[in-house]
This record gives sequence, C-alpha cells and structure tokens, in this order.
Amino acid sequence: MAGYDLETIRHSAAHVMAHAVRNLFPGVKIAIGPAIEEGFYYDFDVKEPFTPDDLGKISAEMTNVIAAGREFVRKEISRDEALGLFADEPYKLELIRDLPEGEIISIYQEGDFADLCRGPHVANAGDIKTFKLLRTSGAYWRGDERNPMLQRIYGVAFPTPQELDDYLKMLEEAEKRDHRRLGKDLELFSIDDEVGPGLVLWHPKGALIRTIIEDYWRREHYGGGYEIIYTPHIARQDLWATSGHLDFFAEGMYGPMEVEGAPYRIRPMNCPFHLAIYKSRIRSYREMPIRWAELGTVYRYERSGTLHGLIRVRGFTQDDAHILCTPDQLDSEITRVLDFVIMILSRFGFNEYGIYLSTRPEHYVGEPEGWEKATAALRYALEAKGFSYRVDEGGGAFYGPKIDVKIKTALGREEQCSTIQVDFNEPERFDITYVGQDNAHHRPIMIHRALLGSLERFFAVLIEHYAGAFPLWLAPVQAVVIAIADRHVPYAEKVAADLRAKGFRVQVDDRNEKTGFKIREAQIQKIPYMLIVGDREQESGSVSVRSRAEGDKGAVDVADFIKTLQDELS
Ligand SMILES: [Zn+2]
Ligand SMILES: [Zn+2]
Repeated sequence: MAGYDLETIRHSAAHVMAHAVRNLFPGVKIAIGPAIEEGFYYDFDVKEPFTPDDLGKISAEMTNVIAAGREFVRKEISRDEALGLFADEPYKLELIRDLPEGEIISIYQEGDFADLCRGPHVANAGDIKTFKLLRTSGAYWRGDERNPMLQRIYGVAFPTPQELDDYLKMLEEAEKRDHRRLGKDLELFSIDDEVGPGLVLWHPKGALIRTIIEDYWRREHYGGGYEIIYTPHIARQDLWATSGHLDFFAEGMYGPMEVEGAPYRIRPMNCPFHLAIYKSRIRSYREMPIRWAELGTVYRYERSGTLHGLIRVRGFTQDDAHILCTPDQLDSEITRVLDFVIMILSRFGFNEYGIYLSTRPEHYVGEPEGWEKATAALRYALEAKGFSYRVDEGGGAFYGPKIDVKIKTALGREEQCSTIQVDFNEPERFDITYVGQDNAHHRPIMIHRALLGSLERFFAVLIEHYAGAFPLWLAPVQAVVIAIADRHVPYAEKVAADLRAKGFRVQVDDRNEKTGFKIREAQIQKIPYMLIVGDREQESGSVSVRSRAEGDKGAVDVADFIKTLQDELS
C-alpha cells in the first residue's frame, strides 16, 4: 500500500467505479475518469441521471470489485487495436482519434474491464482501502454545452479510513458554511436565472457589508499613497487590440456591440483605461510613482458549467490598482504592495497565506528579457521580505509574471485573493513615457495589483471563513433590541436610538412573538448582540445582554454597553 500517491489511488478508484457502473448498467457509455484535487470522478452516458439509491448500489459493487483483488495490467496497443477494442464506446473513440499520430496508446485492464489510460494505477484493485461516492451532477462532454450532457459521479479515496473520516467531517463543515446557502439564509445576495447566470445581485445586507469593505478600502488607499479613479465599462474594440486582449484574452471577452458603426467591447480588465488617463498629458519623473486604484467592475465569459456562487462569476468588481514607476522604484514598490496586502488581509482576520510566484505562460506578449527582469523583481521582493513561496511555472498572466497570495480559511483551504503583476509590455503597447531628469523620454514599468481580488470572491471567502457570523465591524446588524412585551417597545426604541446615535447598526424586534423565538431568530441571523428589555431593564435604564459568542452576560447599563462595543471595535 505504501508508495501510492493520492492521485494514483483516486484514479484507480475511478476505474473501479466505471467497472462497477458497467456491471450494473448494461449499455452505459463511459467517457473520462480523472483524479482531481478533491477526489475523483467519472462521466457516464446513461439514459436517466443516477439516483442516491444507484450510488449505494454502485458503491456496493465497487466493494465487490475491490474484494475480488484483481491486478491492473498495463498494455500498449496499436491505434487500430484501440479502435477495435473501444468500438462500442463513442467517447473513447473520439479520444483515440484525437491522439497525435505515433503517440503510444496504453490501456489498463482490471478483470474484464479495460480503460484507455496513461496510468499510473495501483498494482491491484485490492490496494484501494477506502473510498466514498459523494454526489452526481450533469456535465457536458468535454465541458462544452454544445455536446451531450453526461452524468458525473464524484467520489473520494484515501490511503486510510481515518483520513477519509477527517475529510468527510471537513466536508460537512464546509457544507454548513457554504456561502451560497448562507447567502440565501442571511439574505446577502442572489443569482437569478432571468437576469443571467454568474451575475450577482447584492441584497441590502450583503451590499451593506460591501459598503463597509469599500469604505475601509478607500480610506486605506488614500492613506497609503494611492489616488482613486473611475473609468467606463465599455470601450472601442480598437483599445482592446492595442492592449493585446483581442489576441490573448479573446475567449474571456464578450462579443462586440455596434455604436455608430464602430465596434465596442465590454471590459474584461481595467488596465487600458488607467493608461489612457496616464496618456492624457506629459508625465514627469517627479510624479512617479503614480498609484491609481479603482473598484473596477469587469465582465468575463466563463462557461456556464464552471460558474459557482460568488467564486466564479461573469461580472465582478476587482479592487484594482496600477502603479507606474521608474525602473529604480520597482523593487520598493513591490515590497510596499506586499506590506499593504498583509496589512489589509489581517484586518479581515486572515493571517496565514500561501504565496506563489507564477512565471511566463505558453502564450505571452513581449520579449523574454522583459519577463526575466520582471520575474527577478518579484522574486527579489519575496526574498527580501523573507516570505517562503512556491513557484507556479507557466502560471503568469499573458502580459507579465505575478505573485499570488492565497489566504488560508477556517476550513483549511487556500483561496486565491491578492495578486501583484509586473508588466513591461503594456506600457510599450500604449507607448507611454515620462520625461526623465535628463529631459529624455523613458518607459515606465507598470504593476497591476489587486488585494482582495474581486469583491464577489472575497465576500464568498469571508462568509465561509466566518460561517456567516461576521465580526462586529462587518456585521450588517450589530445588535437587535428585543422587547419582552408590547409595553416595552418604546423603551426598546429609545435604546436603539441611543446606539444608533453612536453610529451602531441596530434593529428593534417589536413583533408580537415569544422572547425565546426572537432570540432563536437573532441567533440564526448571527447577530453579534441581543439586548433583551423588560420591566426591570426599563426601570434601571439597562439591557440584558446576550452575546452571539459568549451567551448570557447579564444586565448592563446602556452607557456601559456602548462602551463595550466601542472597545471591541477599536
Ligand atoms: Zn486510468
Ligand atoms: Zn491591470
């Protein structure tokens, strides 16, 4: 058993699953079954979607296949043999036909089940010690909505039952924290098919949290030496030709719309607009570095099958900024951005990160030399700060290398968040310059950076990290005053007014319901403080405080409670 990596175990489990499905559903056509980061899946062409009952049967049959303990045997076969072997499997035939001439074709055979596969696999099906099938979903063949819809079964496999157990517990916790579910329960946002998939509607409470985030962001940016700008959401198609987006980012862009005979495009990025402001007049070395930030909403085409809540959407707002600097300012500007990233993220309670340096991808603009300089600058900044990082070879943007900061959430996951990209190419494409001390024109360097990434994705991460129980400064409702009886409502209103006068977000629950019911509801809404008021509190000018985190805290003078809140916020 030792020596198999997770991927080998999981991919082998996918084979066993396909074997089991074929035993149980004669006539099923099999597509592909890879190991993925979270486990494995296999896609099947069946008449009816699999039911939970089917999953139980497939699982039992997999156990039989594993118990039989047959070996996985690798064979190399010719193209003709492969076409013959998979004559009844149209998806396999398509894959075989797509293989380049001369490519070695291998199959893995386990009992009477053979699959087209490069491997590797476990030596024996009996080496799969523990697995679990999780769920099914529809999936288009090759992820393309013009192709047939297949039925995908997801599963996980681990070397030991303990690891599987831990994983399932984590999944359960993740489900409780799922931002799509909490977004609905707490009325934070929705996505409406009539509006369009991947397009987010921010409801009042979600919008309030966003406003708090944006206000904080603006304050810190002005304080941090940035200027804030606003730019349009559409531009002439020519602009996107100049920037290189039409050549390198076309599949992420929506089609042209015609305005007075000229094609326009909705923006997938904000950068060209910032350069247009730069170009509006001659710039001097004295103004450098220029740091321009924008909460810029962009639109990108993502296949409907890949959309996911707020994590993967079609319209989103980046907390974008572009820094234009001289070559000798580059190192210090990158360091400064790194410091800014760490400061901003820690404010939201994120103090653990995974840091990645992504280098030149296969398709790129500009000269390799510029890429090397840019990569070296990023590496230098990371090393100067003493950050440990991993290198993602070929993971850079088409215009430059980048540092990505992924935050570790309460679920132990890493979520993509901040990005810092160095770009020698865009300034050249737009031919921007500054006048140097020598009175000659020089080319500035551009840094693209986002700290939160997109507000949508960041909000999803926040919701899941806090399980919807936002810290006081972000909570849309910070306290609810609960009147025990109707006669206490005027006093409840007065308490709320006192708190509001101090800038707190407070609601009064004056409904004719039992106090216990109101408390439960406030708990479901994850409101940080419940202030219960009855005769006693009314007479003494106090509130009975119930904290979301700590439960009952007894009666407290209103003035003292205000002081507690102020302390917690500072
Ligand atoms: Zn395989
Ligand atoms: Zn940019």
